[in-house]
Amino acid sequence: MDFDCEQRDSVHFFYTLPFSKKNALIETTWISDLSNPSNQDYSLQLEDYIKNKLKIKNYEIKFKETGAIPLFYPKNMKKINQMEIGTAGGMTRLSTGYTFMNIQSQCKYIRENFENIQKVNNFTLNSKYKFLDNIFLKVLKKNSEKMPQVFFKMFNCPPNTIINFLSNKSNIFEDISVILKMPKLIFIKELF
Ligand SMILES: Cc1cc2nc3c(=O)[nH]c(=O)nc-3n(C[C@H](O)[C@H](O)[C@H](O)COP(=O)(O)OP(=O)(O)OC[C@H]3O[C@@H](n4cnc5c(N)ncnc54)[C@H](O)[C@@H]3O)c2cc1C
Repeated sequence: MDFDCEQRDSVHFFYTLPFSKKNALIETTWISDLSNPSNQDYSLQLEDYIKNKLKIKNYEIKFKETGAIPLFYPKNMKKINQMEIGTAGGMTRLSTGYTFMNIQSQCKYIRENFENIQKVNNFTLNSKYKFLDNIFLKVLKKNSEKMPQVFFKMFNCPPNTIINFLSNKSNIFEDISVILKMPKLIFIKELF
């Protein structure tokens, strides 16, 4: 995640995921309410980043995609003979947009309870993460200019700690370790 780019009063970063020596996925990501169309010049942003930041002049775009991750929880109500899965089923972590691993857990739960599916509760994310992510989003809304630093501190935790936290597998000590890295005042303000 590279926050060293124009923020334009939002939270903006580039994300580079190499998957071979010569191929990579490069994303421009905005955390916003999509109300500012001037932020949506994605192709120009990527061109500028690849040429001027990554200093790659000779490149070929093999595939393009755009998408938006809804950063709110849908009503995950229990219905007869219908169950929302994935993003629609509330599997997105609001602090990061990560959904994929949660979908695996949700599918495993459905498979294990298939015979009894009408009687069991819907699979949900642990309410601890929902609570913490909601505070995180409130802080983000009001303090967009501080977010690059907040993300930097978050990813400065020991790798296992932050990976466990982001994949909903953290214990209380790991939670505390992540929380302690955050700037206290702005987070405490959003608690109340
Ligand atoms: C740019 C981007 C990067 C992401 N990166 C990550 C990542 O690195 N890690 C991660 O965990 N998550 C990531 N996500 C989140 C990602 O959305 C989920 O991981 C995953 O794709 C969600 O799967 P899904 O099946 O729930 O929803 P989707 O993949 O959105 O699939 C829903 C499908 O339902 C279709 N549909 C919607 N409404 C209807 C309707 N009424 N009738 C019929 N079809 C309908 C849609 O067209 C779509 O094809 C990313 C999302 C975006 C946009």
